[in-house]
Amino acid sequence: MFQTLPSRFSEIQSPKNIKQRGELLLSAIDRVIAFDKLNQEEVQAYQFEKLKSLVSEAYHNVPLYWKKYHKAGFDPASLKTIQDLNRIPLITKADLRNAGLRSIKNFARKEPVWLFSSSGSTGVPSRVYREEQALWHFMARSLVIYKNWCAGKPLANVLYITDLAAGSIDFALADLLQTTVMEKRILGSNLPTPELIHAIELFQPEFISSYPSTIRSIAIAMHQCGKTFKGLKLLHLTSEMLEQTTRSVINTVFPHAKIVETYTSSEAGLIAYSCSAHPSRLHIAETEVLFEILDNDGNPTNKVGQSVVTDLINHCTPMIRYCGLGDYAALDHTNCDCGTPHRSIKTLEGRISDSIVTPDGGLISPYILIDAIEEISGIYQFQIVQSSKNSLKIRIIHDISSRSNQSNVQTSVHDALKKVVPSMIIDVDFVTTISSENNRHKIPLVVSLGFGSHSPSTFSF
Ligand SMILES: [Zn+2]
Repeated sequence: MFQTLPSRFSEIQSPKNIKQRGELLLSAIDRVIAFDKLNQEEVQAYQFEKLKSLVSEAYHNVPLYWKKYHKAGFDPASLKTIQDLNRIPLITKADLRNAGLRSIKNFARKEPVWLFSSSGSTGVPSRVYREEQALWHFMARSLVIYKNWCAGKPLANVLYITDLAAGSIDFALADLLQTTVMEKRILGSNLPTPELIHAIELFQPEFISSYPSTIRSIAIAMHQCGKTFKGLKLLHLTSEMLEQTTRSVINTVFPHAKIVETYTSSEAGLIAYSCSAHPSRLHIAETEVLFEILDNDGNPTNKVGQSVVTDLINHCTPMIRYCGLGDYAALDHTNCDCGTPHRSIKTLEGRISDSIVTPDGGLISPYILIDAIEEISGIYQFQIVQSSKNSLKIRIIHDISSRSNQSNVQTSVHDALKKVVPSMIIDVDFVTTISSENNRHKIPLVVSLGFGSHSPSTFSF
């Protein structure tokens, strides 16, 4: 069924082309391996040198930065030590959205580039150019992470279920992936779930790369038919948070699969990845990004704060102190005994845009709401939707195999959420399916009214 499809990628791969691509990938892997030999002091020295050159290049060659720095009175030559980092103006999502393509392009760079566009919740795209070399680096770093997760023995039997929408970074990576993976093993995450399950049964992959919500739909459908697949050894999940309910159903259906998560963005590439020795730790890819956490006043904090990222790899649209990821996180300053000199992110609290806005203007992290109900017996799948300023609608697929009847589930869910958001009306409905609204891969567990139109006064974790 897959062979008859025309190629979704722009270029049909010739042997010569594959060889060239293979060489680019190999040199990117060499660079990643060299990076991984740096100790902590060397990493910090590298970060600062790279930051200095990026800031200077951005100021001179990228109109967005020239205007921003000029207006703020920031002189790149004044950057003397890493302590000066905080003086570099932040770049916001609005800066990117409002800038024309010519303002975000580094006009001194002539190498091949890709343009990525992420529409986000407001529908206004933020766009970023990324040079091909930076994409090879992204892929090389990912491959090295997977390899560490399978004790240095790469898994050859793979299946990628990814966003193949033109303009997405995952589509560009999938195109490059054809160097090592046959096209029929790269599937669109928007395919119907039964087709994806069929592919898993056909290929019997040892490795799958996809998104939590896509794999959740697959695992739930397989579980409903009493199916399990023991051949999967490693599952890579990215771009969304993986919560406990999804992890549990994945563990049931793919009992031998280890789960490696990466924290990625189309603006700044690969930011962090789960440690193979201690999977609850998310190590920052410190040779790829300079990662900061800032409080509400823009100062570094050891508590939960807003994540700010500088991409140390890409030059075509430099991302220097970008604060538009919308993620809240906290750093873990303890060393990991896996031996990496890279720091860890203790908690990734989720996207502020997924937060629920309470009637008094406060923000509640989606994870508080998920935590409150995910362990309640009788829930097979759920979604929490903020239907108005003061009401939440909870959609539930009842787990008929449990001993809790619908009425018990309804009362438990209502009471649990009422404790978290007492000022809101909670409606609990039973449904038979919960599907994605925009035909993309994400089926969020919490759907908020959106952050853009509100001015929150507090944020609760
Ligand atoms: Zn570690």
